[in-house]
Amino acid sequence: MTHYNHERAVALRAVREAAILCRAVQSGLSPEVLEKKDRSPVTVADFGSQALVCRTLGEVFPGDPVIGEEDASGLRQSGNESLLARLVDHVRDLRPDAGPEEICSWIDRGGAGDFSDRFWTLDPIDGTMGFLRGQQYAVSLALVVGGEVVVGVLGCPNLPLDPAAPDGIGTAFVAERGEGTVQVPLEGDHEPVPVKVSREGDPSRIRFCESVEAAHSSHDDAARIATRLDIRAKPVRLDSQAKYAVVARGEAEVYLRLPRGTGYQEKIWDHAGGVLVVTEAGGRVTDVAGRSLSFTHGRTLAENRGVIVTNGLLHDAVLGAIRDLGIG
Ligand code: AMP
Ligand code: MG
Repeated sequence: MTHYNHERAVALRAVREAAILCRAVQSGLSPEVLEKKDRSPVTVADFGSQALVCRTLGEVFPGDPVIGEEDASGLRQSGNESLLARLVDHVRDLRPDAGPEEICSWIDRGGAGDFSDRFWTLDPIDGTMGFLRGQQYAVSLALVVGGEVVVGVLGCPNLPLDPAAPDGIGTAFVAERGEGTVQVPLEGDHEPVPVKVSREGDPSRIRFCESVEAAHSSHDDAARIATRLDIRAKPVRLDSQAKYAVVARGEAEVYLRLPRGTGYQEKIWDHAGGVLVVTEAGGRVTDVAGRSLSFTHGRTLAENRGVIVTNGLLHDAVLGAIRDLGIG
């Protein structure tokens, strides 16, 4: 089997650098930002994160396309000068020589849209609502080769290494196909520690998680599934692919993402990194119909509907409940 040690190390380095920028922007959020519904801080962090990650990928793997969430065309339009200036300031804290055009060109490196035999996919800030609320968000980067996710890195700046001890540093989860999943602090030099899913198989004792935003996943259908399976705990709601991380390290057994009937197609960057992190930790991921997620359709999971993530032991029971209830 091919090994991706180099890609894994580069991906972790890129995600860590992007997370420093995101944290700097988030720490400057004022309560007024939320009240005014001013989304510009997350826009700055989103572009900055994509610029830094794509800069590193472009330098080390210049031939690899990157399917990223953002593109810089809007940034270059007149009217956005102050946004671009704020972006340049933040990027220069980490890359002092960077200029505006260069930063836009790094962002544009993430503009691939079509499937290819080897490509990266990036969500520079997954969970933008969580970012603005000062809660969970993630930088998610994955390498897909021959349609399979082979490297996945999730940087979760607000998810402490030890769930019981907030550390102000956050955690990176790193997975390589066939090699397992490890966690490391998002900053500093530390030994990686393997993570594993929980072995709890009794529904009456399990914990499940879902989106904070009801628009992203039906909370009502999740409650129906919980009742059907005799899951007693209340759902834990958190933003971003931190949900995959939480299942991967055994803090929850199930993550439900249930379609709202709007025809929304899930985006690959919202899942690729998380899927490998959880499957390499021993978990299982399918859509609501039990199909594996297919990363072969460009930007979207066009073949799939919703996403079901479990520790493996509970997967068939959850899919059975979904079928019986006619969900999806
Ligand atoms: P979460 O933080 O898990 O609620 O998911 C955040 C992600 O949901 C964003 O990155 C969006 O790409 C994605 N998203 C946006 N609209 C929808 C929708 N209608 N259904 C599911 N996901 C969505
Ligand atoms: Mg996202």
